[in-house]
Amino acid sequence: MTQSDRKSSRKHKAIQRAALAAFTTLALAAGAQAQQAPQAALAAIQSAQAQTLHAQIDQRAKAIEQQLIAWRRDIHQHPELGNLETRTAALVAEHLRKLGMEVKTGVAVTGVVGLLKGGKPGPVVALRADMDALPVKEQNELPFASKAKSQYLGKEVDVMHACGHDTHVAMLMATAEVLAGMKAQLPGSVKFIFQPAEESPATFEPDGEKIWGAKQMVKEGVMQNPKVDAVFGLHVSSAYPAGYIAWRPGPAMSSADQFWIDVTGKQTHGARPWSGVDPIVASAQIITGIQTIISRQANIGMEPAVVTVGAINGGNRMNIIPDKVSMIGTIRTYDEGMKKDIHKRLATTAEHIAESSGAKAKVRVVELYNAVVNPADLVAQMGPTLERVAGKGNYGVQPKSAASEDFSFYQQEAPGMFFYLGVTPKDKDPNTAPNNHSPLFFADESSMIYGVRALSNMAVDYMLAAQKN
Ligand SMILES: [Zn+2]
Ligand SMILES: [Zn+2]
Repeated sequence: MTQSDRKSSRKHKAIQRAALAAFTTLALAAGAQAQQAPQAALAAIQSAQAQTLHAQIDQRAKAIEQQLIAWRRDIHQHPELGNLETRTAALVAEHLRKLGMEVKTGVAVTGVVGLLKGGKPGPVVALRADMDALPVKEQNELPFASKAKSQYLGKEVDVMHACGHDTHVAMLMATAEVLAGMKAQLPGSVKFIFQPAEESPATFEPDGEKIWGAKQMVKEGVMQNPKVDAVFGLHVSSAYPAGYIAWRPGPAMSSADQFWIDVTGKQTHGARPWSGVDPIVASAQIITGIQTIISRQANIGMEPAVVTVGAINGGNRMNIIPDKVSMIGTIRTYDEGMKKDIHKRLATTAEHIAESSGAKAKVRVVELYNAVVNPADLVAQMGPTLERVAGKGNYGVQPKSAASEDFSFYQQEAPGMFFYLGVTPKDKDPNTAPNNHSPLFFADESSMIYGVRALSNMAVDYMLAAQKN
């Protein structure tokens, strides 16, 4: 290596370091928005009173860990599809009643809501878990693997807790027990929301009219009487190691909309296309045209977005040009304005391309779930709590997720924060571990105590901070 080589290598390393620093700053600016927790809130969660409560939570969580795992295994072995969660709901309701709570059942079909009134006045914090499973056949070899079957949209299917909602229910049941045991010392109330059908109901298909899950819970007043001041929820994820906690201020999970495009032409002989109007070729052009909405028209410098055609149906014979082709697809966005803009462009693109060949396109969009958006100030306030619970090196900024969650409907009623809890065993690679919804999705049970501590501490810290204001 010559003198100048060494110099340029040093220079190269310096550039690399600078680039890394710039990246970190950018990531913080974009991801964490580098907002600090307000001083008063920080002082409140560092007080002697706070430390006593935190220590109690840890003790009580540890004491209930075996029960937590037993609940989870029981629920895992008996998964139920959306709006059919009667066994799970009964288990939850019985537990909450035993803890002395006021319990409402049958909310949004099978939902259960428990109210724990603290011994001191203060805010109402809601904690939410979803109870439903998926039409997936479990392939894990576990003593408590699911063998359940159920009806899904009129067909018999295998059922599995492939999204980990079994752990959500068990963690929130344990959190209820932890906080109920400290009831007298709590400066506020906790509403425990166990909702059905996060993954959509098994009893009907979304049609733009019927609602379910979180949206139905909200409609039935779950965020009122008493009015909820803040709502927290979590989702387990294969993308992080067991016990790791990740969160993100601002848009964190995308919205999900469904669209239908019906292209009508004029049926004719396949050998004489000029005597009809071909909806198959028009549909092919529409599908290609739709690709330019995101690649050429939407401002993806602001937020990313996705438009996908997931199914196309038309025709039944090689020599007949049919009169109709139907397509369905999904739209994912992180910004309400961009969402509306994409809806408009989808209709314009499809209608005008169809028109150019004499066909007609009818576009219908149904908004299913809004984007999960975590308010920056609430995230800044709760960040130190999650950092303390996760422990050094065991938390980080969550990248934007293109998955959707109906937790967003609670966030429209009160400030709400949603975060991820890693469940991939420490000796496995989270990058290659089977994803949520896979028949091999596997949740390491050692992660669950982190979820219980996170939810319990968030409720308590939120109350303590409110006390100081
Ligand atoms: Zn899911
Ligand atoms: Zn889920």
